Amino acid sequence: MTIIARFNDNRLGVVQGDVIKDVTSVLDALPACRYPLPNHDIFIAALPELRGAIDAAAAKAEGIPLAGVTFLSPVANPGKLVAAPVNYLKHLEEAQADPAIHYQSQVATIHRAGLFLKATSSLVGPSHGIAVAMPDRRTDHEIELVAIIGKRAKNVSKENALDYVAAYSMGLDITIRGPEERSLRKSLDTYSVLGPWMVTADEIPDPGNLDFSLEINGEVRQRANTRDLILGVAELIELATRFYELHPGDVIYTGTPEGVAPILPGDKLHASIERIGEFNVEVRAA
Ligand code: MN
Repeated sequence: MTIIARFNDNRLGVVQGDVIKDVTSVLDALPACRYPLPNHDIFIAALPELRGAIDAAAAKAEGIPLAGVTFLSPVANPGKLVAAPVNYLKHLEEAQADPAIHYQSQVATIHRAGLFLKATSSLVGPSHGIAVAMPDRRTDHEIELVAIIGKRAKNVSKENALDYVAAYSMGLDITIRGPEERSLRKSLDTYSVLGPWMVTADEIPDPGNLDFSLEINGEVRQRANTRDLILGVAELIELATRFYELHPGDVIYTGTPEGVAPILPGDKLHASIERIGEFNVEVRAA
């Protein structure tokens, strides 16, 4: 079981039960970088070669209780945040039924709409919290399974697409509703939450059968299973790589199920997903 986290002051850790082992020393093996920097995440790219060193460092490290740990995004420098628009049928139905969600012609199935990108500057870990920047605009939560790409991928077929996944995590695709392009409405600072850690793909052979849920202030708002994805992780990678190359550390938000609803400063979100974990996120004013 390999659960890898970034925590506190940019430390690298391995989560084991209710403790985290500090393995930051393995980062010394990463290649030294000169300008221009690579446009991928150099830690994710090196992960296959570092697995042995990570396990060895974790075996020697003392456990730090998870309770007091600050969780950062498990990917530090993704080149792209790829995201799936309407990718659950029941979310399509709720969007089509609610003018506040369904703005003119923007809501179509993923077969027609394809994918969109979120700004990487919007990415935070769960401990950072969400800063609502436009309280006069409806701002919704969207919980999503996230796949983290491990190696360069172009024109990949769905049959071997999962070979390109390094790890899985859990994301919140925070969204302002309205007429603007998705890439604008979903790219505000803190509007892409990722965490609390990543679980290496070998631990999740079937990403298409995971229960997940999101609560606001203790009330369940979204509860679903990834089996209801219209395009699963493999199909999303096939679609994305037909258009562009995916790089190590690229993050794919797979889409949200029904139950999206507004968040407000002061709200406390709790998200959980089977085989990956859970996190708490606080909502504040920007
Ligand atoms: Mn989404």
